[in-house]
Parts: sequence; C-alpha cells; structure tokens
Amino acid sequence: MDRIYFDHAATTPVSKNVLEKMLPYFTENFGNSHSQHSFGRNAVKGVDFARSQVAKALNCLPNEIYFTGSGTEADNWAIKGSAWARQSRGKHIITSQIEHPAVLNSCKWLEKQGFEVTYLPVDGEGFVKLDELEKALRKDTILVSIMFANNEVGAIQPVRKIAEIVKKNSNALFHVDAVQAVGAVKVDVKEIGCDMLTVSAHKFYGPKGIGALFIRNGLKIDKLIIGGGQERAMRGGTSNTPAIVGMGQAIEDAVNNLESYSEHCKKLRDTFISRVESEVPYVKLNGPRENRLPNNANFSFEFIEGESILYRLDLAGIAVSSGSACSSGSLEPSHVLLAMGVDVVMGHGSIRFSFGKDNTMEQVDYAVDKIKEVVSTLRQMSPLFNLKEGDVSNV
Ligand SMILES: *Cc1c(COP(=O)(O)O)cnc(C)c1O
Repeated sequence: MDRIYFDHAATTPVSKNVLEKMLPYFTENFGNSHSQHSFGRNAVKGVDFARSQVAKALNCLPNEIYFTGSGTEADNWAIKGSAWARQSRGKHIITSQIEHPAVLNSCKWLEKQGFEVTYLPVDGEGFVKLDELEKALRKDTILVSIMFANNEVGAIQPVRKIAEIVKKNSNALFHVDAVQAVGAVKVDVKEIGCDMLTVSAHKFYGPKGIGALFIRNGLKIDKLIIGGGQERAMRGGTSNTPAIVGMGQAIEDAVNNLESYSEHCKKLRDTFISRVESEVPYVKLNGPRENRLPNNANFSFEFIEGESILYRLDLAGIAVSSGSACSSGSLEPSHVLLAMGVDVVMGHGSIRFSFGKDNTMEQVDYAVDKIKEVVSTLRQMSPLFNLKEGDVSNV
C-alpha cells in the first residue's frame, strides 16, 4: 500500500487546479504588483482577482481582505494590532485556553506589555464555556479572540452565539481564527458577526506561506508589518503573487466543494472512529461527537505514548500527529487536552488523525488494522499495561 497521509490538519498538498493557476505567476506574470508597467499590471490583475475570490468565499467586500504571510501572521496582527489601537479604551483581552499557539502566544506577549488576558476554560468536549465568557466581559475589554474550530480535537465553537454575547455585553472587538474551518464548514463573516477573521491557504489545498485577515470596513487597527504601501498601506512587503493567486483559487474550490468534501471526510471519520472504538481496547475519543470537524478524529490510547504510536505508524507508511504539530517535539501533553480535563497520562497517549479529499475507505481500513497491531505491540512492552493486566513478568 502507498503511504497514507492522515495529517490534513497540519497541512494539505496543493491541488492540481491551484498549482496550474499559480504557475504563470512564477514566470511570465512575475511582475511586482506595485510596478507601474504592464508586468506590474498583470500581477495586480492576479492579486485583485484572488482578493475577490477570498471575499466572495467569506461573504465580505474585497477591500476587507488583507493578505499576510501566514495564518500565524494574521492572528498576530489581529490581536496585537487591535490591542495597540484600542489601549486607551482598556487593556483587557479575552481568549480561550485551547487556541492555536499563534493566538495564545500573541496574548502572552501582550501580557508582558501590560495587557491583562483572561483565558476562558472549556468543557470536557472542548467547547468554550459561554457563561464564563459572559462573566469575563468587562468595560475595559477591548478584544475577544476565539477560534472557529479547534485544530486538535475538532470542536466547532458556536462563534455566532459568541459574537452575540460579546456585542451585547461589551464594546470589545471579536476576532475569529477560522483556519481549520474553511472548506469544512460554512464560514460567513456577516453571519458570524465578527470584526476580524483569520484564514490560511495551506489548510485547504492552497500553498504554504500565505494567509489573509478579514478586517471589517470602518475598523482601524494598527499595522504589524511596516513597510511600503502594499495591502492598501496596511501590510508592507512585496505581494507574494503566486501564493495569493493560489489562495484565491483554493478558497473558491474549497467553498464549491464544501458539501462533497465534508460528506466524504465524515464517512471516513465515522468508520474510523467506530472501528477503533470497537476493535481497540482502552481507547477514548477526545473531543465532541456532534459539532466536530468532519475530518478530525483524536484518540487517547491508554498505557502507551503517542510518540511511539506515531513513530511505528510512520514506519508502516501512515502519517498522523501526536498532540499538535506545533507542540510536538516537546514532551508536554497538549494544552488543549489538558484544558479539557484529560489526565496527563491519557494526554500523552493521544493521536490526531485528520482526513482529506484523497483518502479512501481502503486506507482507513488498512490504518485501523495497523493501529491494532501497533497498539498491541506497544502495550506488551508497557509496564503500566502489564500491571493493569495482572502480568508482572515483563515489568
Ligand atoms: C495552522 C493553524 C494556524 C497557523 O496558520 P499558518 O498559516 O500555518 O501560520 C493558526 N490557527 C489554526 C487553528 C491553525 O490550525
């Protein structure tokens, strides 16, 4: 069997259609979109068209879309830029304990600059506690940043309800990190009622190194990247034309294929979850069963380490993620699972499986068979497991 990729929450390949649209912008349309000649005008055409594609996908105006160098940059910009712009009104920010490091670490950095941050708790399934949000909102709250869908456990937050609560109880801005949501669920900035929203192309079959921030018209936030007059003088740096063009096509395709994509992934996910739950002992599904990203499954395998599972599955040609890709490498259990109250040992044995458009049911079946083998092998070597089973001969 060919190698199997179950890590689409970390990144996706660039689709053929997207690549084809990008290629001319590396070569004949290589101009700088700020040049005054025909080369520049060709580049501008590509960028303008992509901006309209992104705007249409998110249901906003093209001049509310600002291209950035990544989802991380867009998150940094939304949070730092609004904090700086509004600090005379207050210095309190609200986010959740399960945000992506791009949001969490931007907030932590602002704490060092004298801002105060409330990190909202979540319930056992990974949903932000709305009563806690209501309690946390204050007169001096200037920003609330809550993600649309969690990248580790797939919990889809009630962002529309959150926007209502924020707007009803405060003058705070509302930023949404929608990086995992685009292509999987409908993302409509008007329907949500948010002021800012982050997207990133490489999570929906576009290229890496390109993101965008929606900033509602009329809202002024400070710049993060200072330079030339690009992005209507809000984000300096020569436009990455091929990537921008690729992002435009990728988001249009993602929205057009949303239903078939999520149906396809859901089938794989649900078969995967039910087979693992019925065929592998001592497992626990992390995250919700309802309002979950269609392509996400996350399991804790008791008595063994996620890293060892990952390594052995990799040897079998199956690519998965332990914790989140951003925090793996460290032995800290995932901050998301900890916030959900998963105990440290179970947290260490967790693996995220995230499916995509090119995955098949055969791959799911093959992977489950391999997982059974790997988990059973590792447990035979696990002192914890042998104690549990009453067999101390291997300890
Ligand atoms: C991947 C991801 C990001 C970061 O986007 P990059 O473009 O990789 O910097 C931010 N938030 C979430 C929820 C993500 O999954």
